[in-house]
Order: sequence, then structure tokens, then C-alpha cells
Amino acid sequence: MEIPITIHSDEKGYFDRECPNENCLYTFKINMQDWKEKISDDEVHCPMCGHIDTADKWWTQEQLESMQEIAASYAMSMITKELDKAFGKLARSTRNNKFLKITYKPSKKITFQNNPIGQSEEWETDITCEKCGTRYSVIGSAYFCPCCGHNSAVSAFNESTDSIEKMLKSLPEMKQLLTESYGRDKAETMCRGLLESSLGDIVSSFQKFASCHYDKLTGEISRVNDFQIVEKGNQLFKDATGKGYEEWLSDKELHNMNMFFQRRHLIEHNNGMVDQKYVDKSGDNSYVIGQRLVIKENDAYALLAIIKKLAKGLMTL
Ligand SMILES: [Zn+2]
Ligand SMILES: [Zn+2]
Repeated sequence: MEIPITIHSDEKGYFDRECPNENCLYTFKINMQDWKEKISDDEVHCPMCGHIDTADKWWTQEQLESMQEIAASYAMSMITKELDKAFGKLARSTRNNKFLKITYKPSKKITFQNNPIGQSEEWETDITCEKCGTRYSVIGSAYFCPCCGHNSAVSAFNESTDSIEKMLKSLPEMKQLLTESYGRDKAETMCRGLLESSLGDIVSSFQKFASCHYDKLTGEISRVNDFQIVEKGNQLFKDATGKGYEEWLSDKELHNMNMFFQRRHLIEHNNGMVDQKYVDKSGDNSYVIGQRLVIKENDAYALLAIIKKLAKGLMTL
């Protein structure tokens, strides 16, 4: 029995895929046309872990569930139809029998609906592979092109810093919209949260880029967290290539980069409350211990500019 199932893309023409590697199960989106035309049947690469598998393995849990539901309701409608046929006949044949009478009312019909399998809402980071042109979309940043496996650290970095920048730019507008729906206090808190987490996003897009780039240069495998600490990451590149961050950043920029990385750490691990460790590590004298950090939009823009400059430099290695 073949059940016709149609999978529709979202408005942007993308549809969901999930990595079959059980340790990963990363979900991403790929342009449907590219999936049909570019992806080979034998080799699809997971953008996150690089696992390679045949093209029939990439269903998301949601898609599998929907397919099961569709199959079940299809089977149900077939059965009902058969029952209607059988009992309808029986009822008709006993109509004139005075000893036996079977009446049968056809059940309420279950009509088969081939619900298009919908897609989850559109995501943030769109990537076009610089090597093969496949269009895909991920949450945060990813490493590999699902089609050709090209390690896309550079484009992932560009796309993610781009979307952070867009988010920052839309903050005033967002605040206004949120104020209308939730009032000024809540809107203020929400936007402050977004701004603070943007520091984390900037740091993590740099980390991913740096670790990926370092691995490519050295043939070694680094830990992403190595690049969370400015000094440590700097030393790794210096040891491997003879060139450190100072090559492209001024003392002040390097100092600020370290300070913003420390601020991000404090926000994520100590709710932004300034402690001795922060003061020691960041060299930031503008706070007293026990105060809470205040992150400004300009801080996020400044950090973004620094890591963009640094990444551009590192790319020349
Ligand atoms: Zn994976
Ligand atoms: Zn590619």
C-alpha cells in the first residue's frame, strides 16, 4: 500500500532535517529545491557534527510522527470503507428476511486528509555554501555544508554576526512593540535580557569560528571553550602560527575584548554581579564589587567590531 504524503516547505522554501547520529540529532533546514537537485542520495553531511549518511535518514521526529498519523488515518479510512461495503451489503440482503434482520447505518466517515507536514517556524541564520551554493538554515552557527561537507566556519561567522547586528539594530523598535503589549517595565527587562545575551552570542560565534579555523590550520582538534578565554586562544594561535591577536588588534581593543568576554562570563555565571574574580581578570575598574553590570548597546557594537576585525585577520593565516 502506498500512501501519498506531501511535504511542504516553509514560506522561504526550506524544510526541516535532523541528523541521524544519535549523539547529535541536530535539526537544521535546507532549501527544498537544493535538497531535490543538489543533494546526493548517498551522502548528506550534518552541519553540526559532520556525520555522513544516506539521504533517506534525515527525517525529524516531528515528520516521523506526522507520517505515522497520516498512515494511521489513511488505514482507518480504508477499513471504514471496507466495513461500510460489507455490512451495507449484509443489511441489504437481510432486508426481506422475516427471521433475521440486520440494519446497518454507515458510520461517520473518516475522510483521509493528507495533511501537509508543516515546518517549524523560520529560523535565524541562513547560509549559502560558498563552494556548492546549497542554501541551508541553522540555529546559531554550524560548521559543515549538508551537501558538499565544506567547512563553512567563515560564512557561518559572517551570517551569525550579521544576524546579531540586525537584532541589535531592531532593539529600539522591539522595545516599542513590547511596550505596547506588555507595558514599559516588562519591555525594558525583556530588551535588557536580549542585549545581555547578545554578548554571549557574539562570544560564541567567535569561539566557533576560531576553533574551527584553528583546527583547519593545525590539523588538530581544539575545544571550542579554549577560545572563550582571550589569552588562551591568543596563545594557541601564536604557538601554531607565530602570530597572535596583537597582530590585528590594538592594546586597547585587546583589553576591551578581554573585558567584554569577562562581562559575558559574569552575566552567564553570576547574574552580572561584580565579584573580585571579575575585577582581577577583566582589569575593569569602573565597578565596585557587589554592583551589577550594566550592558549598553554600544558595548555590544564595540565587541562585535573587535571580533570582526580579529576574525578578518585570522582568516589571512
Ligand atoms: Zn549531527
Ligand atoms: Zn556546499
